Amino acid sequence: MTIIHNLGFPRIGADRELKRAQEAYWAGKNSLDGLLATGQALRARHWAIQAEAGAHWVPVGDFAWYDHILEWTTLLGAVPARFGQADDAPVELDTLFRMARGRAPSGTPAAACEMTKWFDTNYHYIVPELHPDQTYRIARESLFEQVAEAQALGHRARPVIPGPLTWLWLGKGDAYAGGADDAAKLELLPGLLAVYEQVLQRLAAQGVEWVQIDEPILVLDLPPAWREALAGVYARLAEQGLKVLLATYFGSVEHHLDEIRRLPVQGLHVDLVRAPGQQAAVLAALRDDQVLSLGVIDGRNVWRADLDRVHEQVRAAAQRLGGRLWLAPSCSLLHAPIDLGLETALDNELRSWLSFAVQKLDELRLLRGLVDDEADEADQRALAAARQAVRSRAASSRIHRRDVAERLAASGAVRRERTPFGERIAAQQARLGLPRYPTTTIGSFPQTPEIRALRRDWRTGALGDAAYEKAIRQEIERVVRFQEEIGLDVLVHGEPERNDMVEYFGELLAGFAFTAHGWVQSYGSRCVKPPLIYGDVARLAPMTVAWSSYAQSLTDRPVKGMLTGPVTILQWSFVRDDQPREQTCRQIALALRDEVQDLEQAGVTVIQIDEPAFREGLPLRRGDWAAYLDWAVDSFRLSTSGVRDDTQIHTHMCYSEFNDIIEAIAEMDADVITIETSRSNMELLGAFEAFSYPNDIGPGVYDIHSPNVPREDWMVDLMRRAAQRLPAERLWVNPDCGLKTRGWPETRAALQSMVQAARALREAA
Ligand code: GLN
Ligand code: ZN
Repeated sequence: MTIIHNLGFPRIGADRELKRAQEAYWAGKNSLDGLLATGQALRARHWAIQAEAGAHWVPVGDFAWYDHILEWTTLLGAVPARFGQADDAPVELDTLFRMARGRAPSGTPAAACEMTKWFDTNYHYIVPELHPDQTYRIARESLFEQVAEAQALGHRARPVIPGPLTWLWLGKGDAYAGGADDAAKLELLPGLLAVYEQVLQRLAAQGVEWVQIDEPILVLDLPPAWREALAGVYARLAEQGLKVLLATYFGSVEHHLDEIRRLPVQGLHVDLVRAPGQQAAVLAALRDDQVLSLGVIDGRNVWRADLDRVHEQVRAAAQRLGGRLWLAPSCSLLHAPIDLGLETALDNELRSWLSFAVQKLDELRLLRGLVDDEADEADQRALAAARQAVRSRAASSRIHRRDVAERLAASGAVRRERTPFGERIAAQQARLGLPRYPTTTIGSFPQTPEIRALRRDWRTGALGDAAYEKAIRQEIERVVRFQEEIGLDVLVHGEPERNDMVEYFGELLAGFAFTAHGWVQSYGSRCVKPPLIYGDVARLAPMTVAWSSYAQSLTDRPVKGMLTGPVTILQWSFVRDDQPREQTCRQIALALRDEVQDLEQAGVTVIQIDEPAFREGLPLRRGDWAAYLDWAVDSFRLSTSGVRDDTQIHTHMCYSEFNDIIEAIAEMDADVITIETSRSNMELLGAFEAFSYPNDIGPGVYDIHSPNVPREDWMVDLMRRAAQRLPAERLWVNPDCGLKTRGWPETRAALQSMVQAARALREAA
């Protein structure tokens, strides 16, 4: 029988038990024993699910407190000095938590380690801190304990560990200023490998047969030093008495096959969902003594597979490899929601198109039946249902809308150019009459418990439409009056009607659906529930016009219309896989274009289209950037280019590093871009300066992540620095990001002082 297996299962629990247990523990409301018991129960449940689905091994080590990279960092004893870890003592769980979040029920608080995105997913890992003189040792026993735990439950345990090269690549340190690929990091390998060897030997002594070593960096562009390091590393790791499955995912490894084929590993896993084209080359590179694991069920998305198509896809490999072919999801199922069975509120048709982690394992089992030609009667029925679902999804009129298809087909002819910026900005200035250093905010105002309760009561029906509308209008009026009172120049309505900047629009657009339990881990105990874009996207009715024009009716000052951009909506959703992402993005862009024009018609003179996820969308390999940036920029322009010269388009992005995408940012051609810069002391403006960025820019003058009230002189100073880099007449004064997580007292004080700072700048000019 063909072997089926899994690279990792979501750890949070179908009911987000892990989140609750951890948060309760941090808050002192759960004991350590209680916490550990929750972890153990979740592991047992998840192993049972996988074993019952027919997985030959169960992964061990995919469970993690907070983050699996942090787990591995602490197992290696790589604890930064500020956490006071003794060299010879085990690393306590509270130390791991302090590294993640700065504090824990025991131990002295210290600055938390940095966190960043895991490849191109929305999962975030804790960045290992690397030091040239770091000594490594086995400093935590949890992996070995969990192997024993799985074995005691009768499972074949297959440990999953991060590969040494990937772990180093992800790490940072003062001595490695060159960045991820700094070759000096490779000098840490000898010390690191000694501990890897010990780990593998101990696992072998526990009776483990296979270990899965994850090296997702093999899908990236690697400098020669890193490629060359592979052989030495795996020569050692593959000789420790157990078999090594080298796992790669999120892209193709074709560009590294010359190195990979020489590694003495016993098996290789590749992602055929993201990179189906690599199969032939990988097969050709495989040695006769090696196993090939093909990742054919999408671990990153929620759609049911077309099993006949996948069967066709792996047929040649199955014929050639026989028992040396394994089948698996493309990557760890960490990135998928857990169980579609919980989604009782979705209609049957839509549900039939979906597959979450539990269902994906079952798909794998059915696929094995096809490959081995051994499907029993129950499997045949399940296969028939799967085929029916695939047919219905291909043909459903809920997915394919003629109006959208025709509009998209014709959209190439839609003009994306606006009048040159110089002319536009003059027209805008004549209409808006703003002072120098105009002040504005990014959109949201504090989301108080009262506002949250309003939306909740309206959703449950406890509050009627009229009462809800009245209450939201009152909040908008309060926010508008406040902004007038403190003297802001371009106002906002405050976004009280929005729970989330993507969900709000998804709920009003055709083609979106929402799950009740489709949570995935974002970081630590934080989970997100992305919308599903299952069909053609269309705007059914204006989405923001009533709130925005009401806000505008209250004041003579301009109130910004506030929309979420097409790339951000795409990036923070599960996107349909039956057409290219760029096509879905352009559909969203066209829907937003109509909204932009309706706002303009309604008398809104300034419209902001937020794109905080613009950079996140960048492909993993540099060579693929241009194509992405092309359609991402085009989508933004498609949304925004339909307006008059004197309608001002803003955008907002809140992350660092513009250097390598500044050209694309300029091509977006927003009249004003507001960005996060306060924490970098305006250093981020360097990219805009070097490029001579021509349009207006609002470098955030204070960090909204902190409740501290910024000082006026500090903000004046920051703006002076900005004015050294860019023409003063192009500068705006605003916070780093939206204020929804802040309270009113600090918001009031901070904005008052920001307005004072702008006045001081004007007077000095
Ligand atoms: N307009 C949004 C807000 O102010 C922008 C949020 C974001 O950039 N993430 O909340
Ligand atoms: Zn932001």
